[in-house]
Amino acid sequence: MMYEVGYWQDQIVGNNRISRKDAAEIMQDLSFHDRLRLADSLASLQAGDTVGYAVSYNINYSNYCSASCPICAFYVPAKLKGRTNGGYELTEEDVRKEARKAREYHATEIHVVGGFNPYLPMEYYETIFKAIKEEIPEATLKALTIPEIDFIGRTTGNSLTEVVNRLMDAGVDAHTGGGAEIFDASVRAQITTKEKISGEKWLEDAKIIHKMGMRGNSTITYGHVENYDHIIDHFVRLRDNQLEQPGFISIIPLKFSLENTPLQRSGKVRNEASGRKDLDVISLARIIAGAAIKNVSVYWVALGKLTAQLGLRAGGNDLVGTAFSEKIFGATDRRDKTYTRELDQIILSAGKIPVQRDTFYNIIRYA
Ligand code: SF4
Repeated sequence: MMYEVGYWQDQIVGNNRISRKDAAEIMQDLSFHDRLRLADSLASLQAGDTVGYAVSYNINYSNYCSASCPICAFYVPAKLKGRTNGGYELTEEDVRKEARKAREYHATEIHVVGGFNPYLPMEYYETIFKAIKEEIPEATLKALTIPEIDFIGRTTGNSLTEVVNRLMDAGVDAHTGGGAEIFDASVRAQITTKEKISGEKWLEDAKIIHKMGMRGNSTITYGHVENYDHIIDHFVRLRDNQLEQPGFISIIPLKFSLENTPLQRSGKVRNEASGRKDLDVISLARIIAGAAIKNVSVYWVALGKLTAQLGLRAGGNDLVGTAFSEKIFGATDRRDKTYTRELDQIILSAGKIPVQRDTFYNIIRYA
């Protein structure tokens, strides 16, 4: 028997925990248009009609990495340190300089991630995070992916809880939620290497970190070798984890960017996900997990502004942030204002109400 939008909406609103089978049926039974309509109406019910974004500034402290994931174009193999020009580690002074630039942009959030750098001691992280807090105390410090936090523990001889305690003492307010990729082991083995924790460990670590009082986002990286069952499984596991131990602020679907990755060089992946798939993933995040994790963020930098705008009518209720960094934009006040105005315009044209938000998705101001 095929059910329609109204039936599924009642099921989701009444039950809040739809199964993998239900989600697969929704994919099969509802047309693309109806699925988006369902996700859009759930977004209004679960998150209201505002769409937010943070004014955030990115700092990447090092690109040396001992993981060498096939999906990554960012890393320089850690073993090449000292033998290549492409690798770097920011010094405390470099980080301070970046934080001062973030202040010029009026950033409310500093987003910090890097590679798995085996040469950095625990004190390095404490030093750079304290420095950021000193330079821009008014901003929220959102730092490190869950696999990075786990890696720092393993390489510095600290337990996960010790690392998290020391990070919080140094000023880290939230984790970034990255590194979730796809939890399914067969897919994960093709897109990461064994240095990156398993999907099960990622979820376990998330529970421990959340229990300690550090919240953060959650992510999925799609558009490589996965299929829709893997995507559904990922969202179900995120949702169930959240119901056991709350702490995820949002889900941010990240579209795999093909260029310059080992997956592209090996010919294993030839094309990036289509716009239609982007919208499918956003709608599935909303349909499966929206009742437990009510913020579904549309990462406009990866999707492009047009698809991002459609994503705001496909279950998304957020545009992530301005993602300023010196690598992307010149340090001018004018660009800062242009970008927030442009995001406001994307939101208004999608028929939603633009708001600037903080890291925890609290509204700071209406546009
Ligand atoms: S761990 Fe992160 S930085 Fe390192 S290769 Fe994998 S995705 Fe890239």
